Amino acid sequence: MLTLENIHAGYGATTILQDVSLHVTAGEVVTIVGANGAGKTTTLRTIAGLIRPSSGKITFEGEDITKLSAHETVELGVTLIPEGRQLFSDMTVLENLLMGSYRKAARAAQHDTLDYVLSLFPRVKERLAQNAGSLSGGEQQMVAIARGMMAKPKLLMFDEPSLGLAPIIVQQVFEVIDTIVKTGATVLIVEQNVFHTLKAADRGYVLENGEIVLTDDAEALLSNDHVRQAYLGI
Ligand code: ATP
Repeated sequence: MLTLENIHAGYGATTILQDVSLHVTAGEVVTIVGANGAGKTTTLRTIAGLIRPSSGKITFEGEDITKLSAHETVELGVTLIPEGRQLFSDMTVLENLLMGSYRKAARAAQHDTLDYVLSLFPRVKERLAQNAGSLSGGEQQMVAIARGMMAKPKLLMFDEPSLGLAPIIVQQVFEVIDTIVKTGATVLIVEQNVFHTLKAADRGYVLENGEIVLTDDAEALLSNDHVRQAYLGI
């Protein structure tokens, strides 16, 4: 579904991603593991069209999307749930959710999608009329995920969905991601909670200093010595 070939990308004159190649097949859950500053967010932002690569090629469902804008990649079905949630805090939860379905393919089915999404997120359903800014961090993360689902994405990318949340809420966020995965969604996820994420994923890539240094099945990565020492603290 998604292929990155030899991607170099960064900010201004600073190159962060060096020759990154990866792929995600339809129905797979793939994770990118790496330390702070390794370039995980940069990778997701590059796929989403928020950063233009300096070289390399990105293909989505056979179409070259390397030079597309963020708006255009959303239209194709690529949705990024950004780090830090980025909700419209002065708008209600419902208004935030409806903002998620501006993609043409999602707009027509907005009501059905809303019913479906709310069935996955009962807590969000209880708070539809409340301003998003008044929710707890965990609730805001649920709304951010629900808003991403409102776009009826073909590829859902999560950037650090458990960041800054209490352990019990982290558990809930992973349960929601598990539910989404069980619906057959295609997911690319970046998470500091490496153990949880590898448990939920099919495959993973290890990104260090902007380069992919290792890739394998998630189960194999869980028992890989380097991953255990560097990312699982074992
Ligand atoms: P984290 O888990 O800390 O978010 P990450 O692996 O997602 O880490 P990135 O956010 O992709 O890392 O950052 C990779 C590098 O790019 C870091 O050295 C960071 O300082 C740099 N960087 C990120 N955003 C910008 C920016 N807007 N301008 C310049 N450099 C940036």
